[in-house]
Amino acid sequence: MYQAISKLYPICRSITGNGFRETLKIIQELIPLEIHEVPTGTEVFDWTVPKEWNIKDAYIKNSQGERVVDFQKSNLHVVNYSVPVRKKMPFQELKEHLFTLPDTPEWIPYRTSYYKETWGFCLSHKQFLELKDEEYEVCIDSSLEPGSLTYGEYYIKGESPDEVLISCHACHPSLCDDNLSGIALSAYLAKHLSSISLRYSYRFLFIPGTIGSITWLCLNEAQAQKIKHGLVLTCVGDPGKVTYKRSRQGDAQIDRASLHVLKHSGQEHEIIDFFPYGYDERQYCSPGFNLAVGCFMRSQHGEFPEYHTSADNLDFVQPQYLADSFSKCLSIFHVLEGNGTYLNQNPKCEPRLGKRGLYKGIGGQKEGALNEMAILWVLNLADGNHTLLDIADRSGLAFDEIKRAADALLEHDLLKECLKSAAVS
Ligand code: ZN
Repeated sequence: MYQAISKLYPICRSITGNGFRETLKIIQELIPLEIHEVPTGTEVFDWTVPKEWNIKDAYIKNSQGERVVDFQKSNLHVVNYSVPVRKKMPFQELKEHLFTLPDTPEWIPYRTSYYKETWGFCLSHKQFLELKDEEYEVCIDSSLEPGSLTYGEYYIKGESPDEVLISCHACHPSLCDDNLSGIALSAYLAKHLSSISLRYSYRFLFIPGTIGSITWLCLNEAQAQKIKHGLVLTCVGDPGKVTYKRSRQGDAQIDRASLHVLKHSGQEHEIIDFFPYGYDERQYCSPGFNLAVGCFMRSQHGEFPEYHTSADNLDFVQPQYLADSFSKCLSIFHVLEGNGTYLNQNPKCEPRLGKRGLYKGIGGQKEGALNEMAILWVLNLADGNHTLLDIADRSGLAFDEIKRAADALLEHDLLKECLKSAAVS
């Protein structure tokens, strides 16, 4: 995942354009992504697919002809979606178009202007203070023209048409945690899930933030109804603790599965309630869809100093945190995959477990293979009204132990899966 991030890092991405396409092409080396192009001007609910933005070069030259701000050194130097400009101007006029971060004078900010046609440069405050009051030559060699919005989609077919959605935004330029970590994690989760047999179908979306999810939801309104659980992945490679933001529903199975996995990880984490800001969960959880989509992240967007600056770089994101996010997401999917509702086939008093070898030390059960308390909890709560996740939460035991107990009881015909299990979703 870290290697993929390193490869994607230099590309100047935006919500449309060749940087986005180049990014998807690199992801295609990992998974067979389907690439969609939606033409400029397409009406998507209350929005319109914007003109396509591309950029070749940009700079500010001083009176000596030296590039004092150079897009070739960092793509963050240009306000994303800047209209083309090529002119000479005094410092006083140029100043109106410059953005810096005085509190962190070494860092370049990341700024965008998607829906207002303007131009600007971002630079470190240190660089800004070195600019003399003289005439500058300003060039932004960009284009903003009719084209299309690009997104990537990968569908893995499971036993059921019910879907798990994994969505990440891929529209930020050289920013590692916010954007690239989510892209890399999604791609490697997809690669892994495509190699195992699955109960649910999985849909992966690599989209530009906001306009991408609005576009997908508008073009796939019927398909969206199949999404039973989902995660937006973002900021998953930094050293911060894992943060899970609940879906708008608040207590959906994805929320409970995520809470369960984080609680049993034994590691510090934070659970936050849904609020209508952040990433694409805003669209998936809009009232007309109200999908059970939560957001899995480590440090929360906007709340760490490196956010939307040049300090969100290849040092900020580290392989061990990506690996930890990968394993936690997989554990969440494992709970979704294994959850179900069962009926005890011997509900009048406890069945004799010893004669079935389900009590270690009595039968021939392998030492430590089964947790007896888990067996007793499953037998007691398998009344058709509790899912395995309910039983795990009520017993305080890990889902895996409950699942193993249920599998053993099923094998001994002490349990039957309820057809009602469909109602779990
Ligand atoms: Zn962002």
